[in-house]
Amino acid sequence: MKPAPFTYRAASSSPEAIDALAKEAPPRILAGGQSLVPMLNLRLAPADALLDITRIAELRAVEETINSVRYGALTTHASFEDGLVPDASNGLMSHAAGNIAYRAVRTRGTIGGAIALADPAADWVTVCIALEAVLHLQSTSGKRQMQVEEFVLGPYFTAIAEGELISTIEVPKRSASERWGYHKVVVKTGEYAESMAVALLDRARGFARIVLGATDGAPIVMKKSAGALLAAADEAALKTAIACDLEAGEHEFGAAKRMLHTTAVLRAAKDAMAS
Ligand SMILES: Cc1cc2nc3c(=O)[nH]c(=O)nc-3n(C[C@H](O)[C@H](O)[C@H](O)COP(=O)(O)OP(=O)(O)OC[C@H]3O[C@@H](n4cnc5c(N)ncnc54)[C@H](O)[C@@H]3O)c2cc1C
Repeated sequence: MKPAPFTYRAASSSPEAIDALAKEAPPRILAGGQSLVPMLNLRLAPADALLDITRIAELRAVEETINSVRYGALTTHASFEDGLVPDASNGLMSHAAGNIAYRAVRTRGTIGGAIALADPAADWVTVCIALEAVLHLQSTSGKRQMQVEEFVLGPYFTAIAEGELISTIEVPKRSASERWGYHKVVVKTGEYAESMAVALLDRARGFARIVLGATDGAPIVMKKSAGALLAAADEAALKTAIACDLEAGEHEFGAAKRMLHTTAVLRAAKDAMAS
């Protein structure tokens, strides 16, 4: 199938892009095109106009500060996988990036595009929420920042405002003593996850955090499970805590999904403990 006709324009700077996005009928942003182009072809994402942002150099810039790394929204999955950008995460981001789809998708797909789309099974959404990352957004109304955890409201549903552009994803540098586990359940390598979990554990700081992705909504921050991980609970106690977290909120997981999510969290937690 071919896409419906659309106009195309490439912006060469953020101000130019933001001006274009402020029009009455704003164009749709085109980044790596790995999700948008298939959706256009299938006519699932109607767009009369596309705004290509891939020539905006500042959206590719990566800046390291004392406490964080600021990744331009156009940083590709492959740049993380290949270690071409500074790492804020003790290797978690590079590992997760290398598990996204297959290499052709990773070469063009961007972290900003993945978060903007908010596919519930997108790796960056779950990983960035686990890492307490902050989004920097720009529009003609100015700049604002928001935790990725607050930005992702549900499947393909975010807090982005009309005319807004994600410019940077800022990841706080994790402590050297923090350990991580990442487990993704996929039917076949390169496919979207059936479940995925990230566990972070820093005994020296008394810190643990677990986030479950590929759910029926936004990723779930598993507070009871994180408490059990920090307390070095045995498998039975961890399973009880996971069950409590899965039952909280308005989720309706069937038995099979509950088992997949429990397995993903258990394995991520065990990897964090063992690493
Ligand atoms: C076969 C296949 C398998 C895949 N498997 C996985 C997988 O296992 N895990 C995974 O995480 N992903 C997977 N993906 C998705 C892939 O990671 C995409 O690259 C990513 O979701 C979107 O990034 P993009 O740069 O291509 O964005 P685009 O496709 O260009 O855009 C996606 C959406 O985000 C908006 N957007 C893009 N950039 C910005 C910005 N800076 N500010 C505001 N809005 C913006 C666009 O308007 C559009 O609505 C897969 C894709 C394919 C084709």
